[in-house]
Amino acid sequence: MNFFRADLHIHTVLSPCGDLEMSPVNIVSEATMKGLDIIGITDHNTTRHCELINKLAAEKGIFVMQGAEVTTKEEVHCLAFFENTDALKKFQEFLDHNLPEIMNDPAKFGYQVQVDENDNVVYEEKKLLINAISKSFEETEAFTHSMNGIFIPAHINRKKNSIYSQLGLLPGNLNADALEVSKATTPEQFASIHPEINGFPLIRNSDAHWPGDIGTAFTVFFLKKPSFAEIRLALKGDNGRKIIVE
Ligand SMILES: [Zn+2]
Ligand SMILES: [Zn+2]
Repeated sequence: MNFFRADLHIHTVLSPCGDLEMSPVNIVSEATMKGLDIIGITDHNTTRHCELINKLAAEKGIFVMQGAEVTTKEEVHCLAFFENTDALKKFQEFLDHNLPEIMNDPAKFGYQVQVDENDNVVYEEKKLLINAISKSFEETEAFTHSMNGIFIPAHINRKKNSIYSQLGLLPGNLNADALEVSKATTPEQFASIHPEINGFPLIRNSDAHWPGDIGTAFTVFFLKKPSFAEIRLALKGDNGRKIIVE
């Protein structure tokens, strides 16, 4: 087995808050430069940039965890990842169906564009992606797991859009594959205030919105090889696999 460096929380230009420089080509080139082996693509409430980034990253030997950062009805941000195109498509339908019909104002919130490998715009998302979907935290978790996905409440230490800020506590029956802390803290620091998180695998990512941010926080996975199945096993600590946050 080997150590692989992963930054599983990266936004693209498709997120209204994502810098215009966050094109698929630029993200992959920055990730290559930073020595990342695994990247997670997690735009707000959309998965539409995953396929192209997956293709470009594969050419550079980088494995992509394809998913989204969902805003649940309670405004909790959660990372959801899927193993194959079919599950990803079904999850995109779930997001499209449950995102309210409130339109984006690019001048106010930023552009929400999908671009090709030559940075030409191929699609513009009209609905504002940073709104909450109409499904609850629990419903989002259940749907993600019904599609065999990986479900990770995001930046749980934040004062906004986190499980603690929105739900007030860690639900007793929480079915999460891991919990993410932001780069503002470490798992140890946050666990010293909230020891209840110690029952969960803890990861840390950059939540990058511009290229320079990519890889500024990361999690090391000890795996046979970078794959969705191996990452799932590492989160469970299966057979010597493990995760390390430095
Ligand atoms: Zn977030
Ligand atoms: Zn984010």
